[in-house]
Amino acid sequence: MPKLIPLLFFQLIFISCSSQKHADLILTNVSIVDVENGEIIKNQLVAISGDKILATDDASDLGNYHSEQIISLNGKFVMPGLWDNHIHFRGGEELIEANQNLLPLLLRFGITSVRDGGGDITPAIYEWNNRIQKDELVGPRIFTPGPKLDGSRPAWEGSISVTNKEEAVEALDSLESIDADFVKIYDGNLTKEAFYQIIEEAESRGLKTTGHMPLSADLMEAVELGLDGTEHLYYPLKEASPIADSLTEAGTGYGMITPLMKSYDHELALESYQILGDRDFYVTPTLHVGKTLAELLIADHSKDSLLNYISPEITETYQRRLNSAKRGGDSYTQTRSLWVTSFSNMVKPMYDSGINILAGSDSGPFNSFTYPGQSLHKELELLVNAGLTPQEALITSVMNGPKFFGLDNLYGSIEPGKIADLLILESNPLEDITNTSSIYNVVADGKWYSEKALNDLMNSIKNN
Ligand SMILES: [Zn+2]
Repeated sequence: MPKLIPLLFFQLIFISCSSQKHADLILTNVSIVDVENGEIIKNQLVAISGDKILATDDASDLGNYHSEQIISLNGKFVMPGLWDNHIHFRGGEELIEANQNLLPLLLRFGITSVRDGGGDITPAIYEWNNRIQKDELVGPRIFTPGPKLDGSRPAWEGSISVTNKEEAVEALDSLESIDADFVKIYDGNLTKEAFYQIIEEAESRGLKTTGHMPLSADLMEAVELGLDGTEHLYYPLKEASPIADSLTEAGTGYGMITPLMKSYDHELALESYQILGDRDFYVTPTLHVGKTLAELLIADHSKDSLLNYISPEITETYQRRLNSAKRGGDSYTQTRSLWVTSFSNMVKPMYDSGINILAGSDSGPFNSFTYPGQSLHKELELLVNAGLTPQEALITSVMNGPKFFGLDNLYGSIEPGKIADLLILESNPLEDITNTSSIYNVVADGKWYSEKALNDLMNSIKNN
């Protein structure tokens, strides 16, 4: 309610001047989705100027505004553009163009911001971001950590090796020199000592840290040193088992995951989730990629329509996960299925403990059949299946995404001063989360993408 006061005040001045407020684009007769409060505000207009939202108002006050471009949307739902908080652009120089072709696909699915998981084509990502800003290229805004930080034998190409304090300092100097948005840590063979050194050094520089964690390390100690988040649920899982310490001492690596799940202690879990929640910690569950990988040997993807929009150079990378699934056979499927259920069960108590859950798809090269764009909608669905309300699931994407970067003043709601990244839907996403797929149009950075424009984007990346 207090929000109405400045608005009314403004209108009074406005009428007394008898001049209209100019906007570049006005969407009128819309229902605004207020994600924070879980409410729909009907019969509204959204006025956009440049890349920002200029005003929201009752549609009946359209006469107070002037614009060359007024679009009446007949009650359609306007929500903030989606954030996919864990995707990948990677695969080396030869895959740069194939990765670039994922950008229109993301926008087509209403994703206007992504958090990249770090990789080996950093200069290309910076170039895309520049060109997107200048309207020379169409795609979401990309937040990137640049290269991942890993041990002496990194799991992924392009990572920076850190084995001691000195190398942690050098690695962070180099990330700061490219103005990386955050620090992504990986656990190819990173030692726990180097892991802690990276966190301490990043904390002293005010850099955000997230990623994988060496399973030899202790999550709570890392959080104490300043770790801001973790990707996937392996590491919080370690806090939920009474036998975690003995498994860690035995050095079982990822072999400890199944025993950890089988010894999961709900009370122990809640205690540690509460500590993480109190520390404003971030966790990206990536449920959809887990489910897709679990079903690799049983699902038939040959008819997936989105395969037509993924470059063959990328679909070739799908073979790596497929081969490892085939090597594992039935036991691969059984183990992964147990993981799907166990990880899903962790989400709701984490959310309720105040942990900032982040919706992230883990889509991109190598992660088989996890299609950029569509997979974020699948992730939201799985978060609801895991117990979140549709409103809470939307919070994990459009509010927690910007919050991680301290950018909640610019994103996450349809309010004056916020960036005009909007998703226009046929149906109410607060009623049914699958309605996020009922996409009518997208506004990215203040620019309107009509249905035809979105279709043209898809045709521009279609194979053959
Ligand atoms: Zn990933």
